[in-house]
Amino acid sequence: MTENSTQRFTDEVAFVTGAGSGIGRTTALAFAAEGARVAVAGLPEADVVETARLIEEAGGQALALTCDVTVETDVQTALARTVEAFGRLDVAFNNAGIEQSLTPIAELSTADWTKILDVDLTGVYLCMKHQIPLLQQAGGGAIVNTSSGAGVIGIPGQAGYAAAKWGVIGLTKSAALEYADAGIRINAVCPGVIDTPMMGRVTGGTDEGHERMVGQEPVGRMGRPEEIASAVLWLCSDLGAFAVGHALVVDGGQTVGR
Ligand code: NAD
Repeated sequence: MTENSTQRFTDEVAFVTGAGSGIGRTTALAFAAEGARVAVAGLPEADVVETARLIEEAGGQALALTCDVTVETDVQTALARTVEAFGRLDVAFNNAGIEQSLTPIAELSTADWTKILDVDLTGVYLCMKHQIPLLQQAGGGAIVNTSSGAGVIGIPGQAGYAAAKWGVIGLTKSAALEYADAGIRINAVCPGVIDTPMMGRVTGGTDEGHERMVGQEPVGRMGRPEEIASAVLWLCSDLGAFAVGHALVVDGGQTVGR
């Protein structure tokens, strides 16, 4: 892999969920570009395999892991395979997530509510629960969980998604306090409107949908997944060594003033 001017994760092992697409794929590639061996976890299998292939094509080391973050045994197996292949765990980016269709709460089915909470909140809990002992074994490390702009404001039609994303911040801050003295730093990232396959589904791929979402952004454009990856890497690196329990909003100003 072409050596970056900075190689902040040489000899480290990173575990990324939702790594088959969007922000997760880009962040997995960014960790690898800075020297990490990367466990590329998520669904579907073909997507995580492709991310691993992209990393290896660029000269990095990757392990593709099919893993549903809502299934505890999947999470345990994926982490066990990571340690088996790479010997340790140093950083984790718990990023797998799903969107909610614009639906007022009285019309939101209990099945949809449960699904969103399962993936976007319980998935993060399950990952942290099984990552923390491995980070303790490694003598410390860092976790970043993906929240959202919807984790710091209310959004009509997004009650389930917002409840999960606000929950991620509560989970992050509480766990951060539980493990700060063990040298495990736990933070969250709150992306604004980012140009990913998920955002493609939100806009419906139409010009009107695109303009509606860009209209939420004071900067007048969507963010790029690389702009979230750089924040995640900063939080996980020694440059972010004093950041603990922080919810880092990276949103082009979307939530400022709201
Ligand atoms: P994406 O749909 O491109 O990627 C999400 C990935 O998570 C996909 O690969 C998907 O298959 C995977 N996934 C879904 N359910 C899973 C499960 N049960 N187990 C394992 N993997 C699963 O979306 P993205 O935009 O890259 O979103 C990544 C994260 O960022 C999500 O948590 C999302 O809520 C959050 N986010 C995105 C935006 C945005 O504008 N794109 C804004 C704020 C927050």
